[in-house]
Amino acid sequence: MKNPADVSVETSNAQAVGNIDQATGGISPAIHPSTTFLRDENYALFVEGNSYSRDENPTYKVAEAMLCNLEGGADAMLFSSGMAAAMTIVQTLYPGDHIVAPRIMYWGLRHWLRSFCSQYHIGLSFFDPAEPNALERAIVKNTTKLVWLESPCNPTWDILNISESAEIAHSAGAILAVDSTVATPVLTQPIKLGADFVVHSATKYLNGHCDVLAGAIVAAQDNELWQKMREIRLNAGCILGSLEAWLLQRGMRTLFLRMDRVNQSALVIAECFEKHAKVKQVLYPGLPSHPDHDIAKNQMTGGFGGMLSFRIHGGENACLEIVKRCKVFKRATSLGGVESLIEHRYSIEGEGSPVPRDLLRLSIGIESVQDLISDLTHALE
Ligand code: PLP
Repeated sequence: MKNPADVSVETSNAQAVGNIDQATGGISPAIHPSTTFLRDENYALFVEGNSYSRDENPTYKVAEAMLCNLEGGADAMLFSSGMAAAMTIVQTLYPGDHIVAPRIMYWGLRHWLRSFCSQYHIGLSFFDPAEPNALERAIVKNTTKLVWLESPCNPTWDILNISESAEIAHSAGAILAVDSTVATPVLTQPIKLGADFVVHSATKYLNGHCDVLAGAIVAAQDNELWQKMREIRLNAGCILGSLEAWLLQRGMRTLFLRMDRVNQSALVIAECFEKHAKVKQVLYPGLPSHPDHDIAKNQMTGGFGGMLSFRIHGGENACLEIVKRCKVFKRATSLGGVESLIEHRYSIEGEGSPVPRDLLRLSIGIESVQDLISDLTHALE
């Protein structure tokens, strides 16, 4: 194929950035299940870079090259989950360092950060993005080493200003890492906005079919910190198997199509239910009523995504009655698959969660939008 730089990202992504099976000419890249790789008589590696699969495997490299292409990064690494990817960044810190993260973010990571930081004497502050200058105020000069953002923030879909946050983080001597799982590189490219690292739960939209658990980090630069993360992955072995890496590249090849569909359907659903008598508020960054709509318009250049939440009159009990009546929407956690999911987040996160009890989270899939609207209309009756 032509150099990926000569064609659009959509084209190079659909064609796995030019990867075919070199041995057979197969259009689909091969899976390499081997965990170990041959050396020649002089003990040199048969193929440079291929030694042992806890470190590298040609199958990982296809998905990693696709991620670099999508995010405009210098290098990328796959991980066994989104959590493993996030933990790798945090594990580069030292006792005495300080992390700043948003109050509302993926709850599993928030929970782990609390216990890890307290065990290893790393400071941790959460900021409320709705408050003026909240990020600046949370930063401790010369001590904050990591600013963690998630945008849109799960599950209220606040949009955090990435370029502004990058300036704030860098001027304080911190790095900026952005969990862009919900935005995907189709909607937002954080590296172009100044982020140092982009993190994905590739379990979600990147794979897109709820059948692979995977994570990824894309780095703006291949530097010392990045090499330290590479070492953490190598030593911890938090890498997925080659079959999963292969499935991931296959899922990623339809990413633009899937995002286009969910962008359209989620906006139609958000507009349709905004005025519904049972719905107190629809949280979707594509609606002009969303508090961060203006930031979203600038930052989410590829659309507003497939995630939205309803706040329901009648609170938790009313929410649970609604999910009970859904037939097309599946009652399940997670997001970003081809099938639509509905979830009462507070029930999952439990006591102490900052998520409102009257909130239902919807992950919009690629089904007929009319079927989704009919299902919600019936469930809300
Ligand atoms: N980041 C976000 C925004 C998520 O929603 C999740 C999981 O739901 C994760 C990270 C963690 O990813 P994984 O489940 O692949 O470890």
